[in-house]
Amino acid sequence: MDRIASPRQRPHRLARWPWFALLGALAGCATLGGAQGGKPLVPTAFQVRTGPYVVCTNDKLDADAPVVRQLQSLEVQVRETLGLRVDPGASPVEVYILDDRRSFEHFLTFYYPDLPHRRAFFLANGNQRVIYTFFSDRLEEDIRHEATHALLHVAVGDIPLWLDEGLAEYFEGPAEAKGLNPEHAGRLPGDLAGGWKPDLARLESLRTVRQMTPRDYRESWAWVHYLLNDGRPQKAALLGYLSDLRASAQARPISGRLEGPTCEPMLAHLGKLRETPIALDAPRDPTVRLQSAPAEPPSSPKRRGFLTRLRDFFGS
Ligand SMILES: [Zn+2]
Repeated sequence: MDRIASPRQRPHRLARWPWFALLGALAGCATLGGAQGGKPLVPTAFQVRTGPYVVCTNDKLDADAPVVRQLQSLEVQVRETLGLRVDPGASPVEVYILDDRRSFEHFLTFYYPDLPHRRAFFLANGNQRVIYTFFSDRLEEDIRHEATHALLHVAVGDIPLWLDEGLAEYFEGPAEAKGLNPEHAGRLPGDLAGGWKPDLARLESLRTVRQMTPRDYRESWAWVHYLLNDGRPQKAALLGYLSDLRASAQARPISGRLEGPTCEPMLAHLGKLRETPIALDAPRDPTVRLQSAPAEPPSSPKRRGFLTRLRDFFGS
């Protein structure tokens, strides 16, 4: 599914992108010339296998590297939150981490010349699933976002756009954030002041990323946070929906599964977010430098880490 038009320039799932490009990439038939020293365009020199992933890089990646630990943490969090387990016999998700932004842009130009340049994307065709991204100070966040798409694709299959992105936004922060996305939570009050009203049925009608605005991403995240954290009936409805989607992509939409009004309870949930217990005093991993703004030029100052943004959200 094309996710290339988001103004936020989020990493995106490209589940139905032409497959020939991926095959060419995996064949390693292209190389970076000149200053890149003829390295393969797609890194294959080193591989780390962890859970359902095989992570490929040009330089050696330690088995306990931060990005590997984030993949492991994500798998546990998705299992504990959604009850989704990946079949150990499933084909591994291939994760290619290119050296840097320049290499990644070169790669995109070679294989996806029609795409706006992105920080990362997920591509799936049948049982083959691939994530492409590059080393940056936003790698862990990007990996968690794309790996969520991959886990959902392996464990459930195709799921509706709003839910796929809402869950990816929910899980992209470190586990200690417990699904709270401080940027989304911080902007929704302004959306409300501007006249926005949540409308789950409208979100469910969206079919392509070109229809999704940044606010739709925020709303998708908000619905997922509400459904998973406000009460047992809501969470049961979401888990039941995911279970039914595994059997059929035409499963009854979740808006038809929730009893009573949903808009007001969801807004009330958003209003309580600042009271959500989160271990903000947890030891901060200095290697986790998670960021979520649009891509900046390399010379841009570094953004605050995810946990710093969380602390700012709670005013602590
Ligand atoms: Zn996405």
